Amino acid sequence: MKSVATLALVVALSAPNVLSAQVTRYVRFSHQSRAAYGILEAETVRELEGDLFASPRQTGRTFRLADVRLLAPCEPSKVIAVGLNYRSHLGDRPAAAYPGLFAKYPTSIVGTGADIVMPPDATDLHYEGELVIVIGRKAKNVSPEEALLYVFGVTAGNDVSERAWQRSDLQWFRAKASDTFGPLGPAIATGLNYDDLLVQTRVNGEVRQSERTRDLIFNVPTIVSYVSKYVTLMPGDVIFTGTPQTTRAMKAGDVVEVEVEGVGVLRNTVVAGR
Ligand code: MG
Repeated sequence: MKSVATLALVVALSAPNVLSAQVTRYVRFSHQSRAAYGILEAETVRELEGDLFASPRQTGRTFRLADVRLLAPCEPSKVIAVGLNYRSHLGDRPAAAYPGLFAKYPTSIVGTGADIVMPPDATDLHYEGELVIVIGRKAKNVSPEEALLYVFGVTAGNDVSERAWQRSDLQWFRAKASDTFGPLGPAIATGLNYDDLLVQTRVNGEVRQSERTRDLIFNVPTIVSYVSKYVTLMPGDVIFTGTPQTTRAMKAGDVVEVEVEGVGVLRNTVVAGR
């Protein structure tokens, strides 16, 4: 008779998107205005104490998911993004020889359930559903072969982008990095095969983007290695990996969902700013 561990391994190996026997989903949440990390298991959140990236301990306290407010799943010191990383998004543009990087700001990050606030002078605000890398260990000059050792896990992100400003401005400062332009969550998942996850974006329930991460031009290890040549990545830093296919403008009232297989659904509502 097979042991439980062996059975778990057999189940894991039979599911192509799962690398290890265990997928763990970490969340950050607030309860009675106190913030904490936790492990999400179905509808239960098991509270953690200590640094998420340095052996946190379970406190023994549990909460019903319905009783807490989920926050962005980490607090990055740097928010980096790769552009033009799916052939389906390139249009007439040639594929680049190396990852095209830009920056967003930590203040652009919001969690699931938060509003995406349209600045009053925004005229062409688009969603971009993406797989997002979460760094787990300080990384500088790491090779592609060792890069996964520095990745804590992945989450879902919406690289909200104002296309008119992308075209008109000197840099993508306000087009990509305005407040609330970086929804992230709902959880950080560990133990997934990052090279084959379905990324899907829905607006008001209608599927707008749907593609697997096997189509990334530059995959997760390549991106982490490349970025670490130039900047020191710290635990909790995030890297948006690029969006597939095409995007369209959002309007106030739209509910935008980005779902990454194994991670969950990131859901945000667009509101008009003042
Ligand atoms: Mg993007």
